[in-house]
Amino acid sequence: MISRNLASVKSQLPSAVQLVAVSKFHPVERLMEAYQAGQRVFAESRPQELAAKVPQMPSDVQWHFIGHLQTNKLKLVLPYVSLVQSVDSFHLLEAISKWARTNGKAVDVLLELHLGAEESKQGFTEEEILSVCHSERIEESIRIRGLMGMASNTEDEARIDTEFSRIEALFHLIRGTGLPFFDQLSIGMSGDWPLAVRHSATMVRIGTDIFGPREY
Ligand SMILES: *Cc1c(COP(=O)(O)O)cnc(C)c1O
Repeated sequence: MISRNLASVKSQLPSAVQLVAVSKFHPVERLMEAYQAGQRVFAESRPQELAAKVPQMPSDVQWHFIGHLQTNKLKLVLPYVSLVQSVDSFHLLEAISKWARTNGKAVDVLLELHLGAEESKQGFTEEEILSVCHSERIEESIRIRGLMGMASNTEDEARIDTEFSRIEALFHLIRGTGLPFFDQLSIGMSGDWPLAVRHSATMVRIGTDIFGPREY
């Protein structure tokens, strides 16, 4: 099942777009099925769940974090991940930067743009992202690799298209300034990833289309 789902997604995904398998709420046996089918990049959204899964999976797995991250949970996440996709506040950025300096490790992050209409959603505004990216205070311990966004949970394709256009424009604008390391646009999930690919996605985050409905 999982290997067939993976093969199906991969057959439609341009080879330059990275497939991130969103494994939150799935047991490690299912992650291992994906691993055995060749998948190496997995994403989790809860610190405890990530920290519990890491030692149970082979060491060549690359982990991304995609959930809301509280600053008191950094030590459960930052030692294990190659990318934090969901940096959504100045406060978190500062805390990651401090952790990175203390631990002598450079941390790669994406800045999350608040895209959907949902009030509760996390994320920076466009203006805030521009001010982070132009800030003199960007530290060497943090590498801003790009942007992440989650479109509204809707059947309305025109609306998703508009939201992806917004983040795509911001991505190209910042990349045009030559910000070092800035080359990743993470948009697209199970319902909308083909559209995201048409909006310059360099990585898509797919859970349900690979693993089926979440289990717990
Ligand atoms: C859960 C999640 C996904 C994957 O969602 P699916 O609809 O299962 O593909 C992608 N991105 C983020 C930030 C998520 O939390």
